[in-house]
Amino acid sequence: MERRGIHVMMGDRTKLSAVERLVREIAPSLDLNYVIVEVNGHFEYASHPEASEPKSMAAADAQGLAEAARAKGIELVPMYNCLGHQSWRDKPAALLRAHPEFNEAPELDATAEEFYCMSWCPNHPDVNPLLFDLFDELLAAFGAKAFHVGLDEVFVLGHCPRCKGTPNAELFAKAVNDYHGHLVGRRGVEMQMWGDRLLDAETMGYGSWESSANDTHQAIETVSSDIVMCDWHYEIMDDFPSVRFFQEKGFRVWPGGWNKPESIAKLIEVARREATPKMLGYLATTWTDVEKVVDGLSGKPMEDEKLAAIVSGVKLGAELALG
Ligand SMILES: [Zn+2]
Repeated sequence: MERRGIHVMMGDRTKLSAVERLVREIAPSLDLNYVIVEVNGHFEYASHPEASEPKSMAAADAQGLAEAARAKGIELVPMYNCLGHQSWRDKPAALLRAHPEFNEAPELDATAEEFYCMSWCPNHPDVNPLLFDLFDELLAAFGAKAFHVGLDEVFVLGHCPRCKGTPNAELFAKAVNDYHGHLVGRRGVEMQMWGDRLLDAETMGYGSWESSANDTHQAIETVSSDIVMCDWHYEIMDDFPSVRFFQEKGFRVWPGGWNKPESIAKLIEVARREATPKMLGYLATTWTDVEKVVDGLSGKPMEDEKLAAIVSGVKLGAELALG
């Protein structure tokens, strides 16, 4: 497979050496050629320091990672998860802490059991200008040819007075098209996003995490088909119809798995079976402390079963994607 990638979460700067080891040693040893680093607020943004988490990596740190990646022939892709995932429950990330006025639905009880993550308002006039400054800083520091905007699991939409009454698909498409306009239109880089919000839960057979049960899927008709769709699925299924679907809609698709060997093997089997020139490869996701993942991939014994499953998943995916 052409693209053999891994997605990791950046934390504070104590995690930097783990990401460096990933780029310099681990990814090359697994023959991976893409590393997506989910940065979010963990970067010292010069344009908007208030959008940075405490003890973040500096631009020079990112430049160091980029140099190491280039030396190993690895594409390093910075990511900022947009729209949704702006908090874990009632704990907002740096951007919404500094700019609570961006919160789409401050009236929701974020401490409630069923509450997941806050969203920002895609129609707030000050969000995009600020965000695009952050995108530009990350693109420059990482010397990146591609940028990942996240956009998974956006459940809070259409609450605020600006958005109320507008269909969710339109709100979601606006966000996608705004980011696309900046990244692809103005900066000429590739845009990547998670694909779940563009899949219809009713027809695809996936649950409401891996696909949309809140009508955002109709946005697929109005977003640019040059976006790379990172099509993540973690459950064990007989088929993964979205791999075919995204390609039929004209998108390049990059299937991604996580921690279940049977699911990973099947997803890669389906990806190979359904491959057109628009099928890019396989993307391993980790969703835990990058330091522990890198330790595990280096062969350090893992007592935690969940971590061991994630690490095995990365290895299996890398092996199968190489063929
Ligand atoms: Zn709004």
